[in-house]
Amino acid sequence: MIIGVPKEIKPAENRVGMTPAGVLEMTKAGHTVYVQSGAGTGTDFYDEDYEKAGARILPTIEEVYAIADMIVKVKEPIEPEYKLIKENQLLFTYFHFASCEPLTKAMIEQKAICLAYETVETPDRKLPLLVPMSEVAGRMATQEGAKYLERFYGGRGLLLGGVPGVPPAKVLVIGGGVVGTQAAKMASGMGADVTIMDLNIDRLRYLDDVMPENVNTLVPNEMTIREAVKDFDVIIGAVLIPGAKAPKLITRDMLPTMKQGTVLVDVAIDQGGCFETSKPTTHQDPTYIIDDVIHYTVANMPGAVPFTSTLALTNATLPYALQLANKGWQKACNENSALKLGLNIVKGDVVYKGVSEAFDLPY
Ligand code: NAD
Repeated sequence: MIIGVPKEIKPAENRVGMTPAGVLEMTKAGHTVYVQSGAGTGTDFYDEDYEKAGARILPTIEEVYAIADMIVKVKEPIEPEYKLIKENQLLFTYFHFASCEPLTKAMIEQKAICLAYETVETPDRKLPLLVPMSEVAGRMATQEGAKYLERFYGGRGLLLGGVPGVPPAKVLVIGGGVVGTQAAKMASGMGADVTIMDLNIDRLRYLDDVMPENVNTLVPNEMTIREAVKDFDVIIGAVLIPGAKAPKLITRDMLPTMKQGTVLVDVAIDQGGCFETSKPTTHQDPTYIIDDVIHYTVANMPGAVPFTSTLALTNATLPYALQLANKGWQKACNENSALKLGLNIVKGDVVYKGVSEAFDLPY
């Protein structure tokens, strides 16, 4: 199969859909990989690295789309890419169709085969191509919380781990899934006094077993949250209700009860945020302050660390990309139910229920 790896053109996106290691695996399997010149520079992979791994470099994005049977990338195509996509071309990338009607309509019109990373789902209901980005965002959440506690940024002027003789910061993580676990792991490793809240008590039992001594667990309800927010220095929002908007667990009226310079990190912002005062920000301008409480609400946190994020993502996507290339998308999807659930639009037909429901399209 001929595989194309274009350079991402969405603003501030530095990740790339395939690393030189991925190119080597593809070429070893007998496929030809065309990489757009400069596609990997944001991640510190250069054309010569790709060439050494067996890729052929093409100067423009138009040439990559024109030659490839399968495009492997990171972000959903944006408007200038729509017309480059060919009928029957397989696109393997994040799409998030339900949040973008123009993209959905364009992909229907182009009659492409759209296999979305975010809906690839294993029989035990895991989302293997979303997990790596949650791991990155969770670990980063603690880093950002620690940074914005610094006085220079308006924080309480507290070192997350304290020092001998001086107590550490108190970190509350709401939601003990992938993001929350990774955030708590980092915070506890740095010596903070950590509490994880989750509605799922079995999950809390598990976390209580595996986390170190400086991590406690608590079942959330309005009263416990209302009390807790007065006491914590960093609060990380990491809840997810699949397919729904995040619940507002910290309300506007709780802010004045918090300590001056408390840092709220709302990782769930991509699902609308779990704090009432959250609104999406960017890496260029990541924070804002309300009632002396710092809000960090960047919607694409992994974008700040493209090297780690690219490797984490492609570690997870490559085995699936290889199956698609080796078998063709139809056979690969027939033989792998997780991959089949990734199909969202096939040659003009919407085949994923959530997408048809979002825009009232036939399914
Ligand atoms: P997950 O499904 O692994 O975990 C979510 C957890 O939230 C579950 O354990 C669930 O029991 C718990 N939960 C649900 N409702 C709750 C409530 N009311 N109170 C307490 N806990 C509750 O999900 P995840 O992968 O950890 O993702 C968490 C959030 O982070 C999602 O909204 C996801 O979209 C977001 N995310 C954001 C970024 C970013 O860059 N901002 C990156 C990755 C993930």
